[in-house]
Amino acid sequence: MDLLSAVLPTPIQELSNAITEKAGIKLYIKRDDLIHPKVSGNKWRKLKYNLLEADSQGNRRLLTFGGAFSNHLYAAAAAGKALGLETIGIVRGEELADKLSPTLLFCLDQGMQLHFVSRGEYKLRNSEDYLRELAARFDYPFIIPEGGTSALALKGVGEIVPEIKAQLAQVPDYFAVAVGTGGTAAGLLSAGVNVLAFSALKGGEFLEKDIHALLNGQHSGDLQLFTDYHFGGYAKWNQELITFMLEFRQAFGIQLEQVYTAKMLYGLFDLIHKNHFQKGQTIVAVHTGGVQGLLKL
Ligand SMILES: *Cc1c(COP(=O)(O)O)cnc(C)c1O
Repeated sequence: MDLLSAVLPTPIQELSNAITEKAGIKLYIKRDDLIHPKVSGNKWRKLKYNLLEADSQGNRRLLTFGGAFSNHLYAAAAAGKALGLETIGIVRGEELADKLSPTLLFCLDQGMQLHFVSRGEYKLRNSEDYLRELAARFDYPFIIPEGGTSALALKGVGEIVPEIKAQLAQVPDYFAVAVGTGGTAAGLLSAGVNVLAFSALKGGEFLEKDIHALLNGQHSGDLQLFTDYHFGGYAKWNQELITFMLEFRQAFGIQLEQVYTAKMLYGLFDLIHKNHFQKGQTIVAVHTGGVQGLLKL
């Protein structure tokens, strides 16, 4: 499969500056943003076993869910095109049909069929009855949940951990990730490591329960969820965050985006600065990609 011929392992890079030196910690960034030109970051990891499962079932049609700026829809559309699969996107918000976002235009261009549904209908996206109805309506596609987040996704994300063990010759004390649905955080936890999870949404306290539900009783590492670095809510930001993103690029030569990864790294540097960690500890921040959704700055 073309999609699976991505660059692996993705590179790891040290991030060292006055803050990390003062705290006496080692900080690295795992460059999953470089995994594939279109199916980027955690979306590649989360799709991998979903696509293999669809393939083993002989199902050549995928159906999935997302909003107007969904990196998952973008990745699913690109993966479908690369693999010659039909793709169907159920999009949250009927009003969007008239003014397509750059993400949705890309999806259409990759051949994805878009179906716009009301916010009320979109809320049913995990209900079994609704999924049965969608399956019948779209001729029994392989259904991937919103964000690609499923048990199969956890397995793909968990593969980051042995990659890093081989690259650093140690298991880091913590992995840091941005959280939308929690699938990526749960995948890392399921591989047995400790996770610092930064909610990209306001009121993200519920994510702790969601992440544990995804783990479904599996033995896992420890979760610390941070809910104060949302910058006003999902897909909201302010000048301080944009300035951080620009300074980060200047210092390390790495592009972040304002919805997820900039918030996570802002929060992580804030914790390091506030002596949240012990000297000698090692942290790996995962760059989950999404840079195609960057603000035009
Ligand atoms: C989708 C996405 C996330 C959130 O991942 P979840 O598994 O849904 O928590 C984080 N970062 C980027 C760049 C994303 O596109």
